[in-house]
Amino acid sequence: MALTVKDKAAADLHLGALSEDEKKACPWVGPQGCRVYSDRPWACRMYPLGLASPAPEPSTLGAQGPSLGARVPSPANSEKSQEEFFFMMKEQPCAGHEIQRSWTVAEWIADQGIAEYNAVGELFKAVSLHPRLLRGHNLDPAQMEMFYLACYNLDKFRQFIFESSFLRRFQLAPELEAKLRTDDLELLQFGFRWLRFALFGEPTIELKQEIKAWMDRQLKEATNPEDGRAAIHRAHDSE
Ligand code: SF4
Repeated sequence: MALTVKDKAAADLHLGALSEDEKKACPWVGPQGCRVYSDRPWACRMYPLGLASPAPEPSTLGAQGPSLGARVPSPANSEKSQEEFFFMMKEQPCAGHEIQRSWTVAEWIADQGIAEYNAVGELFKAVSLHPRLLRGHNLDPAQMEMFYLACYNLDKFRQFIFESSFLRRFQLAPELEAKLRTDDLELLQFGFRWLRFALFGEPTIELKQEIKAWMDRQLKEATNPEDGRAAIHRAHDSE
Protein backbone atom coordinates (compact mmCIF):
# COMPACT_ATOMS: atom_id res chain seq x y z
CA MET A 1 0.00 0.00 0.00
CA ALA A 2 1.52 3.32 -1.05
CA LEU A 3 0.81 6.65 0.59
CA THR A 4 0.62 9.92 -1.33
CA VAL A 5 2.07 13.17 0.04
CA LYS A 6 -1.49 14.08 1.05
CA ASP A 7 -1.93 10.80 2.93
CA LYS A 8 1.41 11.31 4.65
CA ALA A 9 0.55 14.84 5.73
CA ALA A 10 -2.79 13.68 7.13
CA ALA A 11 -1.19 10.59 8.69
CA ASP A 12 1.37 12.75 10.51
CA LEU A 13 -1.47 14.58 12.21
CA HIS A 14 -2.96 11.29 13.33
CA LEU A 15 0.32 9.66 14.29
CA GLY A 16 -0.68 9.89 17.93
CA ALA A 17 -4.12 8.47 17.19
CA LEU A 18 -3.24 4.86 17.84
CA SER A 19 -5.83 2.08 17.79
CA GLU A 20 -8.37 2.06 20.57
CA ASP A 21 -7.62 -1.55 21.53
CA GLU A 22 -5.50 -2.57 24.48
CA LYS A 23 -2.32 -2.77 22.42
CA LYS A 24 -2.68 0.82 21.15
CA ALA A 25 -1.19 -0.40 17.90
CA CYS A 26 -0.30 1.80 14.95
CA PRO A 27 -3.24 1.89 12.50
CA TRP A 28 -0.88 0.89 9.66
CA VAL A 29 0.31 -2.36 11.21
CA GLY A 30 -1.15 -5.52 9.65
CA PRO A 31 -0.67 -9.26 10.13
CA GLN A 32 2.43 -9.15 7.89
CA GLY A 33 3.92 -6.06 9.52
CA CYS A 34 3.85 -2.49 8.25
CA ARG A 35 1.31 -1.98 5.45
CA VAL A 36 2.91 1.26 4.31
CA TYR A 37 6.57 0.35 4.78
CA SER A 38 7.90 2.07 1.65
CA ASP A 39 6.14 5.28 2.76
CA ARG A 40 6.59 4.95 6.51
CA PRO A 41 7.01 8.26 8.33
CA TRP A 42 10.24 9.86 9.51
CA ALA A 43 9.94 8.57 13.09
CA CYS A 44 9.58 4.98 11.87
CA ARG A 45 12.58 5.37 9.59
CA MET A 46 14.69 6.77 12.39
CA TYR A 47 13.79 4.13 14.97
CA PRO A 48 15.68 2.93 16.99
CA LEU A 49 17.78 6.03 16.50
CA GLY A 50 16.67 8.93 18.67
CA LEU A 51 17.53 12.55 17.94
CA ALA A 52 17.80 15.07 20.74
CA SER A 53 17.51 18.64 19.62
CA PRO A 54 17.76 21.05 22.55
CA ALA A 55 15.44 24.03 22.36
CA PRO A 56 17.43 27.21 21.76
CA GLU A 57 17.29 30.09 24.16
CA PRO A 58 15.10 32.71 22.43
CA SER A 59 17.87 35.23 23.00
CA THR A 60 20.22 33.21 20.75
CA LEU A 61 17.92 33.45 17.72
CA GLY A 62 18.02 36.20 15.17
CA ALA A 63 14.94 38.31 14.48
CA GLN A 64 14.13 36.34 11.32
CA GLY A 65 14.41 32.97 13.04
CA PRO A 66 16.28 29.92 11.85
CA SER A 67 16.78 30.00 8.10
CA LEU A 68 15.48 27.04 6.14
CA GLY A 69 17.64 24.01 6.56
CA ALA A 70 19.85 25.74 9.12
CA ARG A 71 20.90 24.26 12.39
CA VAL A 72 19.88 26.16 15.47
CA PRO A 73 22.76 28.47 16.43
CA SER A 74 24.64 27.60 19.58
CA PRO A 75 25.91 30.11 22.12
CA ALA A 76 29.67 30.21 21.78
CA ASN A 77 30.30 29.35 25.43
CA SER A 78 28.05 26.29 25.54
CA GLU A 79 28.38 24.98 22.02
CA LYS A 80 28.59 21.34 23.04
CA SER A 81 25.47 21.41 25.22
CA GLN A 82 23.38 22.93 22.40
CA GLU A 83 24.33 20.47 19.68
CA GLU A 84 21.89 17.92 18.34
CA PHE A 85 22.89 14.38 19.17
CA PHE A 86 21.72 10.88 18.41
CA PHE A 87 21.06 8.07 20.83
CA MET A 88 19.84 4.50 20.67
CA MET A 89 16.41 3.48 21.96
CA LYS A 90 16.35 -0.10 23.17
CA GLU A 91 12.94 -1.56 23.85
CA GLN A 92 11.95 -5.14 24.62
CA PRO A 93 9.53 -5.95 21.77
CA CYS A 94 11.93 -4.80 19.05
CA ALA A 95 13.51 -7.90 17.51
CA GLY A 96 15.80 -5.73 15.37
CA HIS A 97 18.16 -5.37 18.32
CA GLU A 98 18.89 -9.10 18.18
CA ILE A 99 20.50 -8.76 14.76
CA GLN A 100 24.24 -8.62 15.19
CA ARG A 101 25.17 -5.81 12.85
CA SER A 102 26.80 -2.47 13.51
CA TRP A 103 25.74 0.73 11.79
CA THR A 104 27.08 4.23 11.94
CA VAL A 105 24.48 6.98 12.25
CA ALA A 106 25.30 8.15 8.71
CA GLU A 107 24.85 4.63 7.31
CA TRP A 108 21.49 4.26 9.03
CA ILE A 109 20.24 7.63 7.77
CA ALA A 110 21.29 6.81 4.20
CA ASP A 111 19.87 3.28 4.36
CA GLN A 112 16.48 4.43 5.61
CA GLY A 113 16.08 7.27 3.07
CA ILE A 114 15.77 9.84 5.83
CA ALA A 115 17.43 12.79 4.06
CA GLU A 116 14.40 13.76 1.95
CA TYR A 117 12.17 13.60 5.04
CA ASN A 118 14.66 15.78 6.91
CA ALA A 119 14.52 18.38 4.13
CA VAL A 120 10.75 18.82 4.47
CA GLY A 121 11.05 18.53 8.26
CA GLU A 122 13.39 21.54 8.32
CA LEU A 123 10.76 23.60 6.50
CA PHE A 124 8.18 22.51 9.05
CA LYS A 125 10.52 23.35 11.95
CA ALA A 126 11.02 26.87 10.59
CA VAL A 127 7.31 27.32 11.36
CA SER A 128 6.69 25.11 14.40
CA LEU A 129 9.89 26.25 16.17
CA HIS A 130 9.61 29.84 15.04
CA PRO A 131 11.37 32.28 17.41
CA ARG A 132 8.10 34.11 18.04
CA LEU A 133 6.49 30.91 19.27
CA LEU A 134 9.55 30.12 21.37
CA ARG A 135 9.24 33.55 22.92
CA GLY A 136 5.70 32.68 24.04
CA HIS A 137 3.60 34.16 21.22
CA ASN A 138 0.25 32.35 20.95
CA LEU A 139 -1.59 31.82 17.70
CA ASP A 140 -5.24 32.84 17.66
CA PRO A 141 -7.91 30.28 16.59
CA ALA A 142 -7.97 31.50 12.98
CA GLN A 143 -4.18 31.20 12.77
CA MET A 144 -4.29 27.72 14.29
CA GLU A 145 -6.84 26.74 11.67
CA MET A 146 -4.58 28.05 8.92
CA PHE A 147 -1.63 26.14 10.40
CA TYR A 148 -3.52 22.83 10.33
CA LEU A 149 -4.92 23.55 6.88
CA ALA A 150 -1.53 24.18 5.28
CA CYS A 151 0.28 21.37 7.09
CA TYR A 152 -2.29 18.59 7.14
CA ASN A 153 -5.16 19.17 4.72
CA LEU A 154 -3.67 19.75 1.30
CA ASP A 155 -6.96 19.46 -0.63
CA LYS A 156 -8.50 22.27 1.38
CA PHE A 157 -5.30 24.32 1.27
CA ARG A 158 -5.31 24.03 -2.54
CA GLN A 159 -8.92 25.23 -2.56
CA PHE A 160 -7.89 28.16 -0.38
CA ILE A 161 -5.26 29.18 -2.92
CA PHE A 162 -7.27 28.68 -6.09
CA GLU A 163 -10.83 29.36 -4.97
CA SER A 164 -10.36 32.42 -2.76
CA SER A 165 -8.98 35.89 -3.45
CA PHE A 166 -5.45 34.57 -2.81
CA LEU A 167 -4.21 34.85 -6.39
CA ARG A 168 -5.57 38.38 -6.68
CA ARG A 169 -3.56 39.42 -3.65
CA PHE A 170 -0.28 37.53 -3.98
CA GLN A 171 2.33 37.42 -6.70
CA LEU A 172 3.14 33.87 -7.75
CA ALA A 173 5.41 32.91 -10.64
CA PRO A 174 3.33 31.20 -13.36
CA GLU A 175 5.47 28.04 -13.13
CA LEU A 176 4.91 27.83 -9.39
CA GLU A 177 1.19 28.44 -9.77
CA ALA A 178 0.98 25.60 -12.30
CA LYS A 179 2.87 23.24 -10.01
CA LEU A 180 0.68 24.08 -7.02
CA ARG A 181 -2.37 22.87 -8.95
CA THR A 182 -1.11 19.31 -9.23
CA ASP A 183 2.05 18.74 -7.19
CA ASP A 184 1.29 17.97 -3.55
CA LEU A 185 4.89 18.12 -2.35
CA GLU A 186 5.31 21.56 -3.93
CA LEU A 187 2.05 22.61 -2.29
CA LEU A 188 3.18 21.40 1.13
CA GLN A 189 6.50 23.27 0.80
CA PHE A 190 4.68 26.40 -0.34
CA GLY A 191 2.36 26.00 2.66
CA PHE A 192 5.31 26.40 5.03
CA ARG A 193 6.34 29.59 3.20
CA TRP A 194 2.80 30.87 3.40
CA LEU A 195 2.60 30.17 7.15
CA ARG A 196 5.77 32.14 7.82
CA PHE A 197 4.17 35.08 6.03
CA ALA A 198 0.66 34.71 7.46
CA LEU A 199 1.55 33.86 11.05
CA PHE A 200 4.77 35.75 11.60
CA GLY A 201 4.88 38.48 8.95
CA GLU A 202 8.05 37.21 7.27
CA PRO A 203 8.52 38.38 3.66
CA THR A 204 8.30 34.85 2.27
CA ILE A 205 5.40 35.62 -0.10
CA GLU A 206 5.13 38.68 -2.30
CA LEU A 207 2.03 40.84 -2.30
CA LYS A 208 0.81 42.21 -5.63
CA GLN A 209 1.94 45.79 -6.16
CA GLU A 210 -1.57 47.27 -6.18
CA ILE A 211 -2.47 45.46 -2.94
CA LYS A 212 0.74 46.60 -1.30
CA ALA A 213 0.11 50.20 -2.41
CA TRP A 214 -3.47 50.02 -1.07
CA MET A 215 -2.25 48.65 2.29
CA ASP A 216 0.40 51.36 2.53
CA ARG A 217 -2.29 53.98 1.88
CA GLN A 218 -4.54 52.51 4.59
CA LEU A 219 -1.71 52.64 7.10
CA LYS A 220 -0.72 56.16 6.06
CA GLU A 221 -4.23 57.60 6.14
CA ALA A 222 -5.24 56.03 9.46
CA THR A 223 -4.97 58.27 12.48
CA ASN A 224 -3.16 55.49 14.28
CA PRO A 225 -1.49 52.30 12.95
CA GLU A 226 -4.00 50.02 14.75
CA ASP A 227 -6.93 51.55 12.81
CA GLY A 228 -5.02 51.05 9.57
CA ARG A 229 -4.30 47.40 10.35
CA ALA A 230 -7.94 46.86 11.37
CA ALA A 231 -9.12 48.28 8.02
CA ILE A 232 -6.81 45.88 6.18
CA HIS A 233 -8.10 42.92 8.21
CA ARG A 234 -11.74 43.91 7.60
CA ALA A 235 -11.14 44.09 3.86
CA HIS A 236 -9.33 40.75 3.97
CA ASP A 237 -12.10 39.05 6.00
CA SER A 238 -14.85 40.30 3.72
CA GLU A 239 -13.32 38.71 0.61
S1 SF4 B 1 6.67 1.22 10.63
FE1 SF4 B 1 5.57 2.98 11.44
S2 SF4 B 1 3.79 3.22 10.09
FE2 SF4 B 1 4.57 1.15 9.81
S3 SF4 B 1 3.40 -0.10 11.26
FE3 SF4 B 1 5.31 0.49 12.29
S4 SF4 B 1 4.75 2.34 13.44
FE4 SF4 B 1 3.14 2.01 11.89
